Amino acid sequence: MNASVSMPTAGAQTIAPAAFHIMLKPRGAICNLDCTYCYFLSKEMLYPGSRFRMAADLLEEYTRQYIEAQRVPEVTFAWQGGEPTLMGLDFFRLAVELQQKYRRPGMAVHNALQTNGTTLDDDWCRFFREHGFLIGLSLDGPRSLHDAYRVDKGGNPTFDAVMAGLALLRRHDVEFNVLTTVHAANAGHPLEVYRFLRDEVRTAFMQFIPIVERDNDTGFQEGERLTDRSVTGRQYGDFLIALFDEWVRRDVGRVYVQIFDVSLAAWLGQSPGLCIFEETCGGALAMEHNGDLFSCDHFVEPRHKLGNLLELPLIDMVASEQQRQFGLAKREALPRYCRECEVRFVCNGGCPKDRTLQTPDGEPGLNVLCAGYRAFFNHIDPAMRFMASEWQAGRPPANIMDHLTRQEAEWQRRLASLGRNDSCPCGSGLKLKRCHGR
Ligand code: SF4
Ligand code: SF4
Repeated sequence: MNASVSMPTAGAQTIAPAAFHIMLKPRGAICNLDCTYCYFLSKEMLYPGSRFRMAADLLEEYTRQYIEAQRVPEVTFAWQGGEPTLMGLDFFRLAVELQQKYRRPGMAVHNALQTNGTTLDDDWCRFFREHGFLIGLSLDGPRSLHDAYRVDKGGNPTFDAVMAGLALLRRHDVEFNVLTTVHAANAGHPLEVYRFLRDEVRTAFMQFIPIVERDNDTGFQEGERLTDRSVTGRQYGDFLIALFDEWVRRDVGRVYVQIFDVSLAAWLGQSPGLCIFEETCGGALAMEHNGDLFSCDHFVEPRHKLGNLLELPLIDMVASEQQRQFGLAKREALPRYCRECEVRFVCNGGCPKDRTLQTPDGEPGLNVLCAGYRAFFNHIDPAMRFMASEWQAGRPPANIMDHLTRQEAEWQRRLASLGRNDSCPCGSGLKLKRCHGR
């Protein structure tokens, strides 16, 4: 899932977007680990015989065109894989040199690199610190939950190696956030995961990405069967609700959980800023090690290839009709069930790659996480309304924590003043002893 950017509006002639985001995979799908749920390892099959190394002249061409095409004052290079550090440090030294060479005066260039953390050493971390790289570290929770699926090529656990990488990042004061996938193994342990990340990893930025993995031999987004590693909608919803209930009572303003931030933006009437919850997509692409450009990181498949950088200008591929249609399809394929949903304004049907279900009235295209999204977004509605109104009044949304403390104290006071046979103050119509007094 990718940070979203503005796409062009439809017109007779497709126009180039002012900005767009590309995930660059300089070593393609090559990785030193063998995480069992990884959607990208199978992409190796697309390039039989390849060395899977982005050539220096291709990197230069990409850097030049990527910077030239962005009509905004800041540009971010996003490095991903596979494991991008397997390119070696010299490749990234060259990358930052080229960025300086082609950067327009006054333009800020940022780098974000996603890593499994197991290859890091002092040299890498010094480099990241010196050049201000933002590191995304993949970590699925405490040892037993992390090691359930994140294993090396020999099937061995990786937790200790990741924690060693984390220690290096901290020692060198490298900016990092944690990306945690939510899957069958850790979905039932939301607070264990959250408290581990908050109290032991001590990260202030967290992302929780649901694993929805098709069970097929191609590795493409086809077929409706999912693997048993995938998280169900209910599990994902319950996971997010448990996290939210802890966060909203004690961590607002000091821990940033991506989906909570995105939700607040939506409650404020702003763009969610995350492609899966945008109305349309198509502004977050992926480039393979050989210059092949694809519509999205999750659709690196021949039918979604836009062309190759050595044959077509980058901006033409990004602004192509094919890409525009890819982005619009997200909205156009939305079933009526979603169009009439009370939380559509924030959900927008989620990512098309996860739309494997039929709606209750038999329409295809319902997100497999729907039950979870709906429960979660409805659950957070009162708190989001409060935080949004605080924000609009120029006060910190973190005031929600005092508000809830007062509300809960009042609730306890009311409960304590009632007899067991009185009506429950929650409005259920039941006696207290059969409801909240139980
Ligand atoms: S298909 Fe669209 S919503 Fe899903 S990850 Fe790709 S760009 Fe984002
Ligand atoms: S919660 Fe479900 S019904 Fe509502 S917009 Fe999201 S996927 Fe569609």
